[in-house]
Amino acid sequence: MGTWCYVRHPEPRPVIEGLLVDIVGAANVDTGSDISEDATHDEALGASPICPLAVVRPGSTEEVAAIVVAATSEGVPLTPRGSGTGLSGACIPVAGGVVVSFERMNRILEIDTANHVAVVEPGATLADLDVALLPYGLIYPVFPGEQSASLGGNVATNAGGMRAVKYGVTRHHVLGIEAVLGTGEVITTGGKFVKSTSGYDLTQLVIGSEGTLALVTRVILRLHPRPGHHATLLAPFATVDQVATAVPPIVASGIGPLLVEYIDLVSMAGITANAGIELGVPDDIKERALAYLVIVLENHHASRLEEDTQALAEHLADLGALDVYVLPAHAGTQMIEARERAFWAAKASGADDIVDVVVPRASIPAYLDVVNGLAARTSSLVVGCGHAADGNVHLSVWQSDPDVRNQLLHDIVAGGVSLGGAVSGEHGIGTQKRRYLAELEDPIKLDLMRRIKAAFDPNGILNPGTIFDPATIEGEHR
Ligand SMILES: Cc1cc2nc3c(=O)[nH]c(=O)nc-3n(C[C@H](O)[C@H](O)[C@H](O)COP(=O)(O)OP(=O)(O)OC[C@H]3O[C@@H](n4cnc5c(N)ncnc54)[C@H](O)[C@@H]3O)c2cc1C
Repeated sequence: MGTWCYVRHPEPRPVIEGLLVDIVGAANVDTGSDISEDATHDEALGASPICPLAVVRPGSTEEVAAIVVAATSEGVPLTPRGSGTGLSGACIPVAGGVVVSFERMNRILEIDTANHVAVVEPGATLADLDVALLPYGLIYPVFPGEQSASLGGNVATNAGGMRAVKYGVTRHHVLGIEAVLGTGEVITTGGKFVKSTSGYDLTQLVIGSEGTLALVTRVILRLHPRPGHHATLLAPFATVDQVATAVPPIVASGIGPLLVEYIDLVSMAGITANAGIELGVPDDIKERALAYLVIVLENHHASRLEEDTQALAEHLADLGALDVYVLPAHAGTQMIEARERAFWAAKASGADDIVDVVVPRASIPAYLDVVNGLAARTSSLVVGCGHAADGNVHLSVWQSDPDVRNQLLHDIVAGGVSLGGAVSGEHGIGTQKRRYLAELEDPIKLDLMRRIKAAFDPNGILNPGTIFDPATIEGEHR
């Protein structure tokens, strides 16, 4: 926090500043040295912060629409911003552009218990929503590792997280949105119902579009009953391959785990040390364990949970686990919280970058072979953990030579894509991965995406530089 943009303010003052003040009031527009350091970056490692011309905080959909109209008339690009927890540089502003911060539009407008939906403004955080739902015995189950993330940011990145194996990702929980297009027009899509077949699904198009198609101003979210009983199992294995090959049979067992995470030896040491926890695994097992599976089960009934836990423990032993520990409730919570903080642990120990490739889950062993080969060849340290049941592999990379690192990152991503995976399984393309998308994605699809972008945002003012290199978008502001 605090003042950061010590850049000399342009004189005369750009017209857009006065227009923004007219729309939202002077208290909700920051310029020059009033702009906080937070607004210049997200959490992407290796991305450079950029100071915008202004930060504007609208309080309503009407204000957002008026901001878009004003920005269009002045040719000023807009970068939407939720909580800035993104990991791909997608909310880093454009120099001379304006950050649209949704921090004031943070209300939970409705919890509809008859239809099991919540209606929220985009700046509401996952943590806010969880607290609001608790008294109703309901849950919004999409839990990416950072609870301070906003729901607008979740929609824009199609946030996933550890619980996707049971509940799916943001895409599966957004029933409708209200959004402002790059023209300033406001659309509402979907509703408080699961299914509609009424033309193209614009809700799904906006989800995951990283602020490049529309500014999301309201979201209708699907809720679930909140199970009251949980069990966390920890299973050390002698090899990462064994862990990865154990996952498909666990998913096929029908137990329906809430989460299935693999954590390699180095990551487990980093995560637990960072969180200051000791899991009580005996030394003789620790010495032989190269990787761990952490599985959480949940149920509405304690007795059924106990039966499932017992069955899963036996199954894990059959699948080659060195041992299986059912963690006491407190230790289980600590373990999951520590895993959620894996990114912070990697950052604290100096990781140079992270990768979030997704591959078909059965291809994880082959993919990790590719990654280990690349790491050995370049004398780099590449370790990780991930949502094993969804094929999401989160790697942290230590390689101080920037040229070697660039090639290594490219090869790690390309290796995943060649196994049937995708450039980004979770965090989005942002500004940091657009070169991989440009090179590795089908050019026909990329061209179609650009034409969709042009239909939503004909003047190219919404989040230029994210997903696509601005040079490849006709009329896009740079
Ligand atoms: C420790 C840690 C763990 C994480 N774990 C996961 C994980 O497991 N899974 C996962 O998917 N992600 C994960 N993330 C990434 C991040 O939390 C998510 O991407 C989250 O959805 C970003 O929300 P935000 O509010 O911080 O968005 P921001 O970072 O502010 O913005 C992200 C994108 O959304 C756009 N945007 C924001 N608000 C709007 C709006 N109202 N309308 C249109 N566009 C908008 C921005 O322009 C940008 O493109 C993690 C991040 C951290 C720091």
